[in-house]
Amino acid sequence: YEHRVLAKVGDQLLPIPINVDTVNRLYGLDLDETTIQAYYDRVREPRDPVATSEDVVLNAVGRDLYEKFFRGYTRKQWGLDPSELAASVAARIPTRTNRDDRYFTDTFQQMPRDGYTRLFERMLDHPRIRVETGVDFFRMRRPRVRHLVFTGPIDAYFGHRFGRLPYRSLAFEHEHLPGVQRHQPVGTVNYPNDFAYTRITEFRHLTGQQHTGTSIVREYPRAEGDPYYPVPRAENEALFKRYAELAAREPDVTFVGRLASYRYYNMDQCVGAALKAADAVLDKLGALSAAGA
Ligand code: UDP
Repeated sequence: YEHRVLAKVGDQLLPIPINVDTVNRLYGLDLDETTIQAYYDRVREPRDPVATSEDVVLNAVGRDLYEKFFRGYTRKQWGLDPSELAASVAARIPTRTNRDDRYFTDTFQQMPRDGYTRLFERMLDHPRIRVETGVDFFRMRRPRVRHLVFTGPIDAYFGHRFGRLPYRSLAFEHEHLPGVQRHQPVGTVNYPNDFAYTRITEFRHLTGQQHTGTSIVREYPRAEGDPYYPVPRAENEALFKRYAELAAREPDVTFVGRLASYRYYNMDQCVGAALKAADAVLDKLGALSAAGA
C-alpha cells in the first residue's frame, strides 16, 4: 500500500502534496516538470526568515494555493492560524515539481500483513509481559521496577507543575456504509475548506479488505480528549524544555514517544526513537547488573 490523498477544493478532488497535476487541474494549465518551478517562482511570496507555517507555504507556492489547501485545514486541525504554528508543521507537506501523488516517498512502504491489531497482540503475547488496562498510572502505587519507561504526557508526569502543555486531540466518527463498494477514490480525502472534520479515511484502500460494504472515519479536531499531537510553537517548546530538564534528572525513567518527548513524530520515527531508547535502557541495566546492583 502506498498512501494517496486528495483535497476537496471547490468541486474538485486534487492531489495533495501539491504537484504538477494539482496546479494544472486547479487552474486549467498545461505545465510540466520543466515549467512548474517557474510557475511557483512567479506566484510565491518570498519570506525571510521562514519562521511559521504560514511563511513555509507562502514562500513555496504563494497566497492562492495557501488559502485553498492550507489555511482552513490548519485552523481546523490546530485551532490556530498557520502564522501561530512553527514552520515544521506545514513543512511536513512538501511542494512537488513532478507528478508523484504519493503522500510519502519512502523506499519501503508496507502495511503489516495481518494489520496493526495483530502486530501488537503478538508483541504483547509474551510470558514476561503483563498488560493492565483501565489503570490510571497516577493513582496506582508506584511500581517497584529498576527502570520505568513513560510514554504519557510529560507535563502530567510532573504534576503540571509549570502549567499545562497543550496537546491536540481528535474525535473519530466511524461509519459503515452497507452496500457501498467505494466511498472515495483514495485512502484519505482532506476537506481544507468545508465541514467540521478535516478528513475522511476509507479503510479498504489501506487494507485491501473485500466486503459488500465499506467503512470510513471522519476526524474532528478537539482541544480536549485523549492527547494525540504536541502543538509545535515556540512558547510550547519553551515550556517543554523546562519539563525536559526535570526529566533529565530522573535517571531511572525513560521518556519516549510523541507525548513524553513532545515531538510531532511520524510512526516510523516513533519506532526509531523507541528502538534507540530500548538500547539505552538495556545498556544501563546491563551496566547495573555488571556492577552487582
Ligand atoms: N496540512 C494542510 N492541508 C492539507 C494537509 C496538511 O494545511 O491538506 C497542514 C496542516 O497544518 C496539518 C499539517 O499540514 O496539520 C501536517 O499534515 P499531516 O497530513 O502530516 O498531518 P497528520 O497526518 O499528522 O495529522
